[in-house]
Amino acid sequence: MGLRHLSLAGAVLLACSSQSASALIINFDYRYDTNNFFSDPARKNILSEAGNFFGSRITDNLTAITSGGVNQFDAKISRPDTGALTTLNSFNVAADTLTVFVGGRDFTGNTLGQGGYGGWNASGYTDFFNNIQQRGQTGPTFGAGATDFAPWGGQISFDTSSTWYFDNNVATTETFSGSDFYSVALHEIGHLLGLGTAASWTAKETSGGFSGANAVAAFRAVFPSAVDVPLEADGAHWLNETKSLTLAGVTQEAMMDPSITIGTRKLPTQLDLAALKDVGWQITPVPVPAAVWLFGSALLTFAGVRRKKAASV
Ligand SMILES: [Zn+2]
Repeated sequence: MGLRHLSLAGAVLLACSSQSASALIINFDYRYDTNNFFSDPARKNILSEAGNFFGSRITDNLTAITSGGVNQFDAKISRPDTGALTTLNSFNVAADTLTVFVGGRDFTGNTLGQGGYGGWNASGYTDFFNNIQQRGQTGPTFGAGATDFAPWGGQISFDTSSTWYFDNNVATTETFSGSDFYSVALHEIGHLLGLGTAASWTAKETSGGFSGANAVAAFRAVFPSAVDVPLEADGAHWLNETKSLTLAGVTQEAMMDPSITIGTRKLPTQLDLAALKDVGWQITPVPVPAAVWLFGSALLTFAGVRRKKAASV
């Protein structure tokens, strides 16, 4: 096996117990929260709830990435507090874990948040590279034939100048004003998990639509004649106002359309979860217990979500 040196510049830059099912751990890292968006622990709690929504439903087993000797993995992110490209040398990621750097900064316009998976550089042996690219997943994760996705993690940033609603109990719904932080966190984690960003997503893009079989089947529950799911021109979101059903069967604007109405919550819909299957994740309908949550401790993809004032649901 040969020693290789490879620089993989991620993909898109837009506007991330052995046999039994176990939860995917989304490990949020706050080292770059220099603007103190998360100084209130209540905000971290909401973010962990959003991470657990997905983590408890994703049962893929991801291998660890461990730098050592000639095998060196350097993670590349856009810092959530500044947007600056940053490299973390000799980086390690634990098994069944995604490491996600989070923070806040002042976005211009109506952008509420940005999220995407991280890039990397590495040097070392072939099997080290294969492990970085696949993390034990079988289908190809890069290129036009990608059918699977296995990121190491990535970054999410939230707007520091928006009027937010921070819900102290996301299990209940109530009237509120402001942009719902829980909803936006779910949306950005969706991007980090490959929705609108992964090569396995792009591989299923058609002219103006998404042809993933699971997503199309879910969309037909509300749009029986659909042949694909319409996309925004950016290819990273469902067409604005796309509807689906929540897990409770309620018609709702989908999580991964590009905007959210102030004063409303958007939960992941059946369409959004079906699309996660289409990009390669194994999704269980019944959540598995959350693993331990760790706090504080490519290029990359980024896609934002905008707020809007129109009260159209
Ligand atoms: Zn988005």
